[in-house]
Amino acid sequence: MFESLSDRLSGIFDKLTGRGALSENDVNEAMREIRRALIEADVALPVVRSFTDKVRNRAVGAEVVKSVTPGQMVVKIVHDQLIEMLGSDTRTLDLNAPAPVPIMMVGLQGSGKTTTTAKIARRLTQREKRKVLMASLDTRRPAAQEQLKVLGEQNGIDTLPIVEGQGPVEIAKRAMSAARLGGYDVVLLDTAGRIHIDEPLMIEMAEVKAAAQPHEILLVADSLTGQDAVNLAKNFDERVGITGIALTRMDGDGRGGAALSMQAVTGKPVKLIGTGEKSDALEDFHPKRIADRILG
Ligand code: GDP
Repeated sequence: MFESLSDRLSGIFDKLTGRGALSENDVNEAMREIRRALIEADVALPVVRSFTDKVRNRAVGAEVVKSVTPGQMVVKIVHDQLIEMLGSDTRTLDLNAPAPVPIMMVGLQGSGKTTTTAKIARRLTQREKRKVLMASLDTRRPAAQEQLKVLGEQNGIDTLPIVEGQGPVEIAKRAMSAARLGGYDVVLLDTAGRIHIDEPLMIEMAEVKAAAQPHEILLVADSLTGQDAVNLAKNFDERVGITGIALTRMDGDGRGGAALSMQAVTGKPVKLIGTGEKSDALEDFHPKRIADRILG
C-alpha cells in the first residue's frame, strides 16, 4: 500500500514545526512528494507540472497558522488547488433545449460508450421520467447496433430500429425525425469508436455533429487511460468540441488522475462516472471525492 500524501508531507514538515512561513526549500521538498502522488494517480505530466507550479506559488511564503502543522497546511493547499481545478460543485447533463434534445456520445472503442449510453438513458427514464430514444451510429462493428438494442430491451428503453446499409449521418437524421414524430424528450446517439484517434473518425464525428446539432457532446473515456488522457481529450475537444466528459471504470483500482488531466486541458467538466458494468452503475461526479482519491 502507498503511504498517503498527507502522511508523507507530515513526515517532511515535522522538522519544521514552530517556523513562521514556508520557505522555498521546504516547499520544493514537498513538491517532489506531490508530483510523485499525482503521477501515481495517473495525472498526465504536463498537468502535474502546471499543478505543482500553482501549489508552489500558493505555498511559498504562506504563514503557517498556529492550529495546524506545516504538513497539514500544504495538504490543504494541495487539496484546495485540486478542487479548484476539478470544479467545486457537481454537474449534471444540460437538457435545457427544445425536445427532442440530442446528446452525442463520442470516444474510443472499448471506452464504455455503449454501456454509458444505456446507463444515461436508464437514469433519464427512471429518475427524470423523460422519454428517451437511443440510436447506434456504429456501422463499423457489426454487433454494435445489436448490443445497444439488447441493452434497450433489458432496460425498457426504445432504440431506433436497425436499417441495414445506412451510414452514421443517415442514422442520425433518422433518429432525430423518429424522435420528433414519437414525441421523445431526449435522443442519445452512440457513435462509432476506433482503437486510436484517426482522421476518418474525426471527420465522421464532425459530420454526425453537423447533422444532429447535439446539445451535449459527451466524451466517454476510461479512467485508467493514464498519460494518453490529455491527447485524447484535446483531440476530441479541438476536432469535435465536447461539452463534458463521462469517466468509466471508476470502480477499478485507478486513482482517477485522468479526471484532472482531461479537465485541465479542455476546461470541460467531468459530468458523470461509471462505476460498474451494470446499467445502474452511473454516478454524479463529486470533485471532493476525486480529490481525496487522487491524494490517496
Ligand atoms: P464501447 O466500445 O465504447 O461502446 O464500449 P462498451 O460499452 O462496449 O464497454 C466495453 C466494456 O467495458 C464492456 O465489457 C462494459 O461492460 C465495460 N464497462 C463499461 N463501463 C464500465 C464501468 O464503468 N466499469 C466497469 N467495470 N466496466 C465497464
